[in-house]
Amino acid sequence: MARMTGAVCRLCRREGIKLFLKGIRCTGDKCAIERRNFTPGMHGKGSHRKLSNYGIQLREKQKAKRIYGILEKQFRLSFEQASRKRGVTGENLIQLLERRLDSVIFRLLFVTSRSEARQFVTHGSILVNGRRVDSPSFLIQEGDQIEVPKQEHLVKRVQATLELLKDRTLPEWLELNRETLQAKILRLPTKADAGIPVEESQIVELYSK
Ligand code: SF4
Repeated sequence: MARMTGAVCRLCRREGIKLFLKGIRCTGDKCAIERRNFTPGMHGKGSHRKLSNYGIQLREKQKAKRIYGILEKQFRLSFEQASRKRGVTGENLIQLLERRLDSVIFRLLFVTSRSEARQFVTHGSILVNGRRVDSPSFLIQEGDQIEVPKQEHLVKRVQATLELLKDRTLPEWLELNRETLQAKILRLPTKADAGIPVEESQIVELYSK
């Protein structure tokens, strides 16, 4: 499975915002954005270059790819899928990204980051409608049942993470039984549910050239 590697905090510093790529560290005072919020590299500090339209569009795309942890080819496929659907392409794109199984596991607070979610899914630690699904890009549907297999080490791990993240709220489109670790997709997520700092219309502009 292709994935982003390297120093992920640099990605946040490049975009100038928290992308929440490192789990619990992102909410603590060790976050690199809290300590060094300037572009990485020799010319980072003090550089205030004005971006061209293309530059703005490119940055919005990079931000979205980095938040969801996916590479260009997969992102482009998602965009093409979004543009074939009815409705607003940019909003369809965000919905498709949110519907990925790794993102849903992250939203359910079973893990602290999307990269951990990807690993969790690829290791076969998630059941969808009673069947093991090990593809992070699997798209959930309304009404799907998601659960953690009844294996002691998995149950303990997820319960510990839920406890760690107990102050965070679950999105309205998800329902979770914290005892049985069974969840249901009540409805498909919207752009507003995603709450990510990305102007998706800029991505549409970029790919429409
Ligand atoms: Fe980004 Fe998290 Fe690193 Fe902060 S700790 S810079 S939010 S990945």
